[in-house]
Amino acid sequence: MLHVDVLTAYLISGVSALAGAAMLRLARPDEERLRGALGWCAAALVTFGLGMVPAGLGPVIGHPTLQLTMTFGTLCGIVLLAHGLGLMQGRDPSAGVLGALVAGLVLGLLLAQEAGAMVLGRAYAAMLALCTTWATWQSRGFVASPRNATERVFGLVLLLVVSSSWLRLAYTIAYDGPPRIDQLYLPEAVLPAVAATYGVLPIVFSTLMLGLVNAMLQQRLHRRASTDELTGVLTRRALRETAPALVAAELGRGGSVAVLILDIDHFKAVNDRSGHACGNEALRLAAATLQAQLRPDAPLARYGGEEFVAIVPVDGLPTARAVAERLRLAVEQARWRAIPGLHTGLTVSIGVAMAGPGEPLDAALARADDALYRAKRDGRNQVQVGLQAA
Ligand code: GH3
Ligand code: MG
Ligand code: MG
Repeated sequence: MLHVDVLTAYLISGVSALAGAAMLRLARPDEERLRGALGWCAAALVTFGLGMVPAGLGPVIGHPTLQLTMTFGTLCGIVLLAHGLGLMQGRDPSAGVLGALVAGLVLGLLLAQEAGAMVLGRAYAAMLALCTTWATWQSRGFVASPRNATERVFGLVLLLVVSSSWLRLAYTIAYDGPPRIDQLYLPEAVLPAVAATYGVLPIVFSTLMLGLVNAMLQQRLHRRASTDELTGVLTRRALRETAPALVAAELGRGGSVAVLILDIDHFKAVNDRSGHACGNEALRLAAATLQAQLRPDAPLARYGGEEFVAIVPVDGLPTARAVAERLRLAVEQARWRAIPGLHTGLTVSIGVAMAGPGEPLDAALARADDALYRAKRDGRNQVQVGLQAA
């Protein structure tokens, strides 16, 4: 049987909250929003810790207002945490709402304390259930649609905390014994386990929050590495990473995949005549025009300076040729004149090759490139089809 003194567990919980806050302050993500979110979460842990440590030391220092600082520290810590979690989710939680919640907590606890120890106990349990529900609502993305394992675990921990808070409220309302200074009105048998859980909870939360931020930063790095900065389409690296699996899956289910290389015609002349900035705008318009013509299952990448590659699932060569022709026409008809300083329209030459079963991507690209060379040689602004895979 586990023997844990509840107030000692509160002391441990308070100290571990302060340690968790220090841990969060040490993490300095380079993104403003995440830094802000972690700042609020750290403030939440400090508030919680400052309420819990004196409460845990209560029997030693024996101060009557410790009940109030403990209950306020816990509840205020939870609403600050809710604010931080909202920010972390990309929402913009209102500072006014936060201020009103904190003021409401102060007022509610003061009035409840005036009304007697058991009223304070019940009011605290009710506010705890409401505040944890509020924090979970602010983090609803982690609960409803977690994007990774850490978010899933975080959501589950929040759900456990909320449901146990409502259960705790039910027990508190039903309780008819003398008031307890630890405010924990639960069956004696579960008190040690609950107290021990409260002791480790702040460190569990801090670790999970660092995990959340880490996953978000990693995701951002991945997005940065896979998105071309100028045009917003995939990078060459991202295409090379994802295309082989896409091609294999499509061929595996009996479909066909076309590999298209698209190169803007006489692009050097645009730079020479209209300047590099205008050339960049033209590249953006070309990318947007091509992207608008392709379905989401057909990745488009900027493969080199003014060269793009598209991997397009099709039902055969005639469709591949038709898609390429549609892309060519769309570029020809794009609103080039809308680009300041660009005085001519642009066109694109396209080489098409069908990916062969088991063929490396580079081999299909090489055949598409041969076809592109022919398109350039035969006068540009046209589609040419490469040889079939050997
Ligand atoms: P072709 O019809 O044979 O393809 O002729 P081209 O002029 O398009 O081909 P070339 O390979 O001679 O020139 C490509 C030009 O693309 C040269 C380079 O300055 C330009 N370019 C490459 N990357 C960028 C970029 O990011 N921005 C701008 N503005 N120009 C770029
Ligand atoms: Mg070119
Ligand atoms: Mg080129």
